[in-house]
Amino acid sequence: MGDDKTYTGGCFCGEVQFEVSGHPAAMGYCHCESCRHWSAGPVNAFTLWKPEALKVTRGAASIGTYNKTPISYRKWCKHCGGHLFTDHPTMGLVDVYAAVIPQLAFEPGVHVNYQETVLHIHDGKAKMKDMPKDMGGSGVTLPD
Ligand SMILES: [Zn+2]
Ligand SMILES: [Zn+2]
Repeated sequence: MGDDKTYTGGCFCGEVQFEVSGHPAAMGYCHCESCRHWSAGPVNAFTLWKPEALKVTRGAASIGTYNKTPISYRKWCKHCGGHLFTDHPTMGLVDVYAAVIPQLAFEPGVHVNYQETVLHIHDGKAKMKDMPKDMGGSGVTLPD
């Protein structure tokens, strides 16, 4: 079992329950137009995990999926519409929205897709123009 922590999360109504174990590969904020449009919020607070770290423990049949692009398969609860996570198969990671795993201490390390921002956050963290190089982006940073 090791000393990996397990965090429980769920959708807005509670129909879908899941847990993630271990440590996220990265945490931060995404400012892209797709995240904003889908979430109806100004930024998306993400935590990225290896897919095997995530286990749906209840309500798997109630999870809806939509992929506008092959990069992001966005998932929500079909009962309440609450957002859950986004599969990023090309990155080999899943974004479990920070807001649905409140027990996890959210420690954002980076802002991504900052060229698309509508909400400037002057927190001294790196502002990637698009994505880091090791995630297929330019690796270019913008001023805080
Ligand atoms: Zn729900
Ligand atoms: Zn995004």
